[in-house]
Amino acid sequence: MLGGMQDWQLRLSGLIDHAAREHGQREIVTYWADGSESRSNWGELRQMALRMVQALRRVGLRPSDRVGTLAMNHVHHLASWFGVTGAGGVLHTINPRLFDEQLEYIINHADDRVLLYDAAFQPIVDRLRARLPKVEHFICFDDGAFADWIATEDGDTAWEPGGERDPAMLCYTSGTTGNPKGVLYEHRSTILHAMAAVAPSVANLEPRSAIFPIVPLFHAAAWGLPWAGASVGAKFVFSAVNEPARLCELMRREGATHVAGVPTVWLGIFQHLDATGQDLPPFSQAISGGSAFPPAMVERLLRAGVRITHAWGMTETSPIATTSYETEGWDALSLAEQVRYKASQGRAVFGSEVRAVDLDDPARVLPRDGTSAGALQVRGFWCIKRYFKAESDAAQAPEQWFDTGDVAIIHPDGTVQLTDRTKDVIKSGGEWISSVDLENAAIGHPGVAEAAAIGVAHPRWDERPILVVVKKDGAEVEAAELIRFLSTKVAKWWLPDAVEFVDEIPHTGTGKISKKDLRERFRDYRLST
Ligand code: ADP
Repeated sequence: MLGGMQDWQLRLSGLIDHAAREHGQREIVTYWADGSESRSNWGELRQMALRMVQALRRVGLRPSDRVGTLAMNHVHHLASWFGVTGAGGVLHTINPRLFDEQLEYIINHADDRVLLYDAAFQPIVDRLRARLPKVEHFICFDDGAFADWIATEDGDTAWEPGGERDPAMLCYTSGTTGNPKGVLYEHRSTILHAMAAVAPSVANLEPRSAIFPIVPLFHAAAWGLPWAGASVGAKFVFSAVNEPARLCELMRREGATHVAGVPTVWLGIFQHLDATGQDLPPFSQAISGGSAFPPAMVERLLRAGVRITHAWGMTETSPIATTSYETEGWDALSLAEQVRYKASQGRAVFGSEVRAVDLDDPARVLPRDGTSAGALQVRGFWCIKRYFKAESDAAQAPEQWFDTGDVAIIHPDGTVQLTDRTKDVIKSGGEWISSVDLENAAIGHPGVAEAAAIGVAHPRWDERPILVVVKKDGAEVEAAELIRFLSTKVAKWWLPDAVEFVDEIPHTGTGKISKKDLRERFRDYRLST
């Protein structure tokens, strides 16, 4: 028997239609790299996207063809999200911070036919052009080129029809090992993720929200915020430059209510505020994800009265899978307890399921006992089945559990606590040391700006942790004192055997500490015994 409801396919064009119809005047503000400012709105954005649909058809784009974007956050980039998917194409957001070889691989692997790029990335395009034989059209977002490209169109057309399981968006993981891998989101999975993201327990969005995604549009769909924000017609603030002073000024000026960034972004903002003696700009909701959120940062935001959504996920999970949502009894918790919970990766959002399995015997599902650490697996409505162009998805069948490569403890209440990446765990004398816990503890020291723990070879214990530290500007910290500080926070045998002070810790293209580069740098490190 069939149910009695209407036949609507979950298509992304529905989002922009709704935003333009119900919230057409709601602003989309861009601060461009050259310091200028432009103000648009959902109504205009829809027109721009429809003209883009015509322009893409003009150059022969067929459904499912890929269009790459190599761009920072701005209104034209956002318009292309709706224009490309509205034309039935696949929007391929590319991280411009990747190496040339990775960019070349990704763009060719994706078979991008059109590449839209910022003038700031003209040098990348010039370097790679000859190595990208499949790209037929290179269109610069700036200098009037993009405007000219759609100027001849009138926007009087309809979105490309299609089904909800059609592909909509392609994102590559940065590929810390081997070649990057593409994750092909569908219209349906993206809409379901957007609807989930609106909830108070996730991004907490409503039409009054003014969202400032400092997370780039090219990083895991900017955590889905553009789609989710369209579904409520929220205001958007974009900055094409991520300079902390500018970000803080924008937050104040544009009345941002929701600010989303990776921990490195928050670190930059806090350092700027400390250096200039300014207060945190007023906003109500912080969203962080992508790497561990150090408790010291959590505490600072909570003390300022900011609500925090700390999300865990991956490109492969669209990306949000768990968030640190409040549950009953939250208000009665002490600040320390609230900080501890918010610094964890939180609980599964409806639509995603998680479990931990034994690291050596994946057939053994670990209990949610708050102590057993295992390989974290995930599945759900917006979770990957197979990588783009992969031969099969047999590995996951029939239960569809996806291996995240993360190591986690799951608590009896379902709280996920990430302790490491499978490849970053430090194993000392057969026992694991959580590099994440060490780093979090170190960041709690007032003189430490950033810290990374890695394992180095040790004749007796196989591996021992060393801590690589960037001091805060002007701070005096010494190794012995830092170790004393850590000894009040972690088990004695976890204490790093050495502390190395450096000017800078290497980061990946998505702003995460690059353990791979650090391990490389300290490969021949000899511990004094
Ligand atoms: P990349 O392209 O850098 O791989 P992803 O966003 O796909 O970007 O990376 C996903 C990984 O990032 C996760 O598997 C996990 O290791 C890490 N990560 C994401 N969110 C968190 C978080 N809240 N806390 C700790 N680690 C996180």
